Amino acid sequence: MAFATVTSSSTAISASFEQTKVVQLGSYQPLDRTHSSTVLNLSRKRLSSIMALNAEPKRNDSVVASAAASLASEVVEKVEVEVEDYEKLARELENASPLEIMDKALEKFGNDIAIAFSGAEDVALIEYAHLTGRPFRVFSLDTGRLNPETYRLFDAVEKKYGIHIEYMFPDAVEVQALVRTKGLFSFYEDGHQECCRVRKVRPLRRALKGLRAWITGQRKDQSPGTRSEIPTVQVDPVFEGLEGGPGSLVKWNPVANVQGNDIWKFLRTMNVPVNSLHAQGYISIGCEPCTRPVLPGQHEREGRWWWEDATAKECGLHKGNIKDGNVNGNGNVAVQANGTTTVADIFNSQHVVSLTRPGIENLIKLEDRREPWLVVLYAPWCRFCQAMEGSYVELAEKLAGTGVKVAKFQADGEQKAFAERELQLGSFPTILFYPKHSSRAVKYPSEKRDVESLLAFVNTLR
Ligand code: SF4
Repeated sequence: MAFATVTSSSTAISASFEQTKVVQLGSYQPLDRTHSSTVLNLSRKRLSSIMALNAEPKRNDSVVASAAASLASEVVEKVEVEVEDYEKLARELENASPLEIMDKALEKFGNDIAIAFSGAEDVALIEYAHLTGRPFRVFSLDTGRLNPETYRLFDAVEKKYGIHIEYMFPDAVEVQALVRTKGLFSFYEDGHQECCRVRKVRPLRRALKGLRAWITGQRKDQSPGTRSEIPTVQVDPVFEGLEGGPGSLVKWNPVANVQGNDIWKFLRTMNVPVNSLHAQGYISIGCEPCTRPVLPGQHEREGRWWWEDATAKECGLHKGNIKDGNVNGNGNVAVQANGTTTVADIFNSQHVVSLTRPGIENLIKLEDRREPWLVVLYAPWCRFCQAMEGSYVELAEKLAGTGVKVAKFQADGEQKAFAERELQLGSFPTILFYPKHSSRAVKYPSEKRDVESLLAFVNTLR
């Protein structure tokens, strides 16, 4: 899969920004580096990305606007588009060390990349980034349900590395609505997906919308079956980055091929601060109510969401790396009584109307509807549908009570021919808007499926 970056051959520009690059060499020798075509790319990005992590969906270059403008006029004629083949790069890096992969990631993306830090052994990523001698950014999702020990580790890490972790918090109104309607521990009764969506996935999506790449601590040995094919680098199959749309975000997994034991040897050798919960038997650490220690010999994921099926133990942050095709948008699999699995339905929300075939046939016949309708044509197994599930459900929640109906129609299988013929279905997902006073549906033309873009589409037509 390809990803577009912008590079230039102007050495004058790269030289002027090289000075800003190494600010924390510490006592380590930076890796031997060659600055080829990516150097100016990195410098250009640093000019335009001084804002805090996703303070705005789109960056505002106001801090350095005038400098950027004058430089832009010098380089604009020399800029050319280089397409990076990340599948090829992943193959090249398959046997590279985490340090080499980290260095490559930071070199390529500069200030437009950040490490996702959970407060567990992925602190190794921060040590690797430190060892490269390059500046780096770190963000963390504060779900509001973390252990006190995790907060203490955050503080220790900030002090040791001289960094400020860019915390992302859930939307207060969404948390309030969830807790007031379902209580503080609803995940024990109806699964962790809803709470994780509010407290983790949506804040993560907001964070990533301010970046061009992110770095995770995902390892192949972490989850039985579900994480066994994680590449060292990939175009993110689920989330969108700063530019929006599929392919706008690159995901780096520098420790994909490292065993948990080797991570621990590294942490001990380098005297890295670690979460004190590890000493109490915790391996994988998440939120306090959903994490528990494991016994010797137990797999680390057995300490997470232990009341749920083993194959459902993903929170949605890395659903694009889930191996099993029978996984829904929240990393969930419906297990039947006979032990077989089917794909669970998606876009499940009280604000999303599920249309049957007669229901959508009635809708398309109406010349004069009482209210406008937004309908997604989807297939539960479709990765792109799964990827937009959070946005669509969030959109439905935002539109609740506004007079716009939000609906879904499962258009695969025996409905596919009908949907292609009558509903403009080309590929999944297809989004249609049925205005109030017109029988003709308007097809959403963009690949951007974030809430803001979808809302802009609706507001233009309603
Ligand atoms: Fe909620 Fe548990 Fe998910 Fe944390 S891990 S967001 S508490 S369901």
